[in-house]
Amino acid sequence: MRLTVLGTGSAMPVPDRVQAGYLLDDGDRSLLVDCGSGVLQRLADTDTGYEGVSTVLLTHHHLDHVAALLPLMKARWLAGHDHLEVVGPDGTKSLVHGLLDVHEYLDGRLDLSLREVSPSRSFSVAGFDVAARETRHSMPCLAYRFSPPSGGTDPTAGPLTLSGDSEAFGGLANFADGSDVLVHDCSFPDGIDVSNHPTPTSLGESLSDADVGTLLLSHLYPQTGGQESGMTESVRAAGFDGEVRVASDGVQVRIPSNMSE
Ligand SMILES: [Zn+2]
Ligand SMILES: [Zn+2]
Repeated sequence: MRLTVLGTGSAMPVPDRVQAGYLLDDGDRSLLVDCGSGVLQRLADTDTGYEGVSTVLLTHHHLDHVAALLPLMKARWLAGHDHLEVVGPDGTKSLVHGLLDVHEYLDGRLDLSLREVSPSRSFSVAGFDVAARETRHSMPCLAYRFSPPSGGTDPTAGPLTLSGDSEAFGGLANFADGSDVLVHDCSFPDGIDVSNHPTPTSLGESLSDADVGTLLLSHLYPQTGGQESGMTESVRAAGFDGEVRVASDGVQVRIPSNMSE
């Protein structure tokens, strides 16, 4: 399984970080998780491309996670890849229907499948086995834990966890416990008064008892610029004892993990 971090930014633009997007590949299966602004450009720089993504899994419906959904639909329609499945938490169907109400000419152009998922039951998406957990955020949001599409794998023990947007808390740390790789929202550096997102210290504290191989800090607001090494030191000083890195757009991780650019 390979993770390509497409977008490590947030709702406030910086030149080198587009909004949220993560590409999972395993053999010939691909899954896009979140589809914020700029993600299609990053996707076009991968071997998979938007042509190879027929399934999108949403963590939640904030604009920085869904802004490029309609552009993805239009690109696939124009390229003749007319199937797209959109999976996400409650409200995903009405979100997509609402977007298509605004841009009516796209309605009916795609063979669209919409599916809503919940933490109560593991599910399969694009062949990946997935477990979900509610996070603590300003709107309902799901964290996801993934197992490769090998069949019969327990997703609650999958090697990759994506936090979505969330404060740091023990329940999410427990959910990620045992992951080879955890990509976690770390929106702001320490010293900023924030709710609905973690700081490096709160994140490190929450993960102090968790067994996580590599922690990638993502969903980075402009205030994190130039603070990267201090942020990783804070996470470690607060008790996290795995490897920790600030993610950058385009970074790829093979799972079991080995990092490459
Ligand atoms: Zn959000
Ligand atoms: Zn966000």
